[in-house]
Amino acid sequence: ARQAVLAAATGPGMTADGRPVPLLANIGGPADLPAALAAGAEGVGLYRTEFLFLDRAQAPGEEEQYAAYREVLDAFPGGRVIVRTLDAGADKPLAFLPPPGEEPNPALGERGLRMFRAHPQVMETQLRALARAADGNTARLAVMAPMVATREEAEWFAQACRTAGLPEAGIMIEVPSAALRAADLAPAVDFFSIGTNDLAQYAFAADRQLGSLGALQDPWQPALLDLIHTAATAAVSAGKGCGVCGEAAADPLLACVLVGLGVTSLSMGAASLPAVRAALTRHTADQCGLAAQAAREAGSADEARAAARTQLPGLA
Ligand code: PEP
Ligand code: MG
Repeated sequence: ARQAVLAAATGPGMTADGRPVPLLANIGGPADLPAALAAGAEGVGLYRTEFLFLDRAQAPGEEEQYAAYREVLDAFPGGRVIVRTLDAGADKPLAFLPPPGEEPNPALGERGLRMFRAHPQVMETQLRALARAADGNTARLAVMAPMVATREEAEWFAQACRTAGLPEAGIMIEVPSAALRAADLAPAVDFFSIGTNDLAQYAFAADRQLGSLGALQDPWQPALLDLIHTAATAAVSAGKGCGVCGEAAADPLLACVLVGLGVTSLSMGAASLPAVRAALTRHTADQCGLAAQAAREAGSADEARAAARTQLPGLA
């Protein structure tokens, strides 16, 4: 019995009827590993590599990057580690990667993958360091690009990963155009990871840094749920995985709804893992599906939340 309690507290993510939903950690670097391991993360769903690049005059070299990636891969033998390539620009400007011109709206400017068009060597160095870190390691490395908007961008990134010898290339779905055209993008990559923070920002034209627009950033907004459903359904139809690594995955009630929308893994800050794991073990995949349907049929974020609560008793 004690074993069962322990498994429920730190074991792999699973619905009550046994559908696996890998529970992964969002990390900013090796310093976040102890908390992720203690919370029973099955791997890393989002390694935000930009912290390696912030507040410095030059980009970190290949060796320094290799060491930082290797340390994370070594922490999850046999597990999955999804590393996101540098997501600079907008709220994370870099001194050595200035935008080509003045940007009145940095969130709509040269950020994420777009930045690498003008600076391909920064991406190539990062991919090379990653490929070396994966070599001879039992952790399964997957690499993904932020801020992908078109199939052409997805293809360009996947090709760069293949050239570097990386085994798995994915994209974040955080721009509405990518969610809407997910069926067209899915064949170009190995997996999707939905970034609900930016997807909400861009879907509702509401700056994520403005607290006064919090209601428009609410991940329960039915329009956001529709976009997630579109992306997850397209991935599943193409036989690809579709995770969520935005803040939405950390809400136990919403995590169940995400599974019901077709999402196949969840990644979040380590502190949220136990509550999400417990919520999944108490509800079946069918219940999650009904909750997702009810939430999408709602007319507002509050109504969606209330509808999901009715379908998933016991969750706040
Ligand atoms: C997101 O946009 O939801 C995301 C996970 O990425 P970040 O918060 O780093 O932009
Ligand atoms: Mg983002």
